[in-house]
Order: sequence, then structure tokens, then C-alpha cells
Amino acid sequence: MKTIGLIGGMSWESSALYYRIINQEVGRKLGGLHSADILMRSFDFAPIEEMQSQGNWDEAGALLAEAARQLEEAGADMIGLCTNTMHLVASQIETAISVPFIHIARPTAARLREDGFACVGLLGTQFTMEMGFYADILRAEGLDPIVPDIDITNLNAIIYEELCRGIIRDQSRQTYIAAIERLAQRGAEAVILGCTEIGMLIDDAMSPIPTYDTTELHAKALVDLALA
Ligand code: GLU
Repeated sequence: MKTIGLIGGMSWESSALYYRIINQEVGRKLGGLHSADILMRSFDFAPIEEMQSQGNWDEAGALLAEAARQLEEAGADMIGLCTNTMHLVASQIETAISVPFIHIARPTAARLREDGFACVGLLGTQFTMEMGFYADILRAEGLDPIVPDIDITNLNAIIYEELCRGIIRDQSRQTYIAAIERLAQRGAEAVILGCTEIGMLIDDAMSPIPTYDTTELHAKALVDLALA
């Protein structure tokens, strides 16, 4: 089994989900007492969030690239970055390492295509929804992503002020369901939960269209490679 290197802490709430899903998936596939071989570098999210809000992407990228390099040096055979937003600096990370970097959008796009979807809604932080870096990859992978045409301030605030702090509110769930309904009205056939904490709030059963949870799909892609 290969060693999975994780860059986490953004937020730790979703990194904990990665840890659980990856171990459960290895246990399910190998049976018995098998669990995953993982190295994790977990950051304090507060200074990272400050870099995000100040648009200080180069500094954040350098920090994450150095973490990836250290994970490789420590024995990681692949690197997974446990957040969608910080994939904005994916190229900085990729150039710092020689092991594979598993981009979170790729296994997500692959599953959507396999399931026959093209027009997909994209929910995430304002950076993920507005800055294009994520939708560009989805387009390159053959999808037609659309982002909300409503005020996204509230959707973004729910991520940072609630989900990243482990707070789950029914009112916020209704806000997300309403946003998904609007995406569906505009033609989205499925919706990408493009923030690693949104799966804490929304699942398929509550959504008018199928949901694709990037945390789960990314974690499982890392396991597939670890066991390949
Ligand atoms: N974990 C989130 C994401 O997947 C948001 C926190 C962050 O900005 O990194 O985008």
C-alpha cells in the first residue's frame, strides 16, 4: 500500500472527514484490521484564511508547496490537498514535488461524466465560485459548470462562520437547498459540493438534484491510487 500525504487543516473539520473516509475505504477494500498509511500536515487555518481574504495567494502557495515537499521527503507517495479553495495554488504545489498531486476537481469531474452529466452547479467558497480556477478545470474535463446567480455572501459566510467551526444550522441548510433549487431551474443536472465542508450540511436526500461531494470523491481517489 502506498502512503497518502495530506495537507489539511483548512478546515480541520473536513480534514477529519478525509481521515475517516480514507481509513474506512481501505478497511472496506482490504478487510480485517487494515487501515490507511497516511502522513498529514495540518495547518492552523486562521493565518491561511487571512492570506485568502488579503489575496495573498503567493505566500499561501509557498507555504503549501513547502508542506507538500516535506510530506514527499517524509515518504508520501502522493499528495492530496484537503480543500477546494486552496487548489487555486495547485500549480505551485505541483512544481514543488515529484510524486503525483491528485487535484480534487478531477475525480469529481470524472464521476459526473461517468454518470452522464454535463451541466453541473458548483457550490463552494466565493473564491471557488468566482475566481474561475475551478470551473476552468471542470470545463477542461468536459463539463459545463454554472455558479449561483444569487448573492453568494451568505453561502460563503456559512462556510467560514459555521461549517469550518463545526456549527450545523437548519436555516443554513435551507439556504443551500434554495441555492441548489435555483441552479436546477437554470439547467444544472447535478451539483458539486465544491467545498470540503458542505457535505456536513447537505446530502443527496435533501437535494432536488444529485450531489457530488468533493471530500468523498477526492478521499476515495487517493485510496484508489494508494491501493493500485
Ligand atoms: N474547505 C473549504 C474548501 O473546500 C473552504 C476553506 C478554505 O478556504 O480552504 O474550499
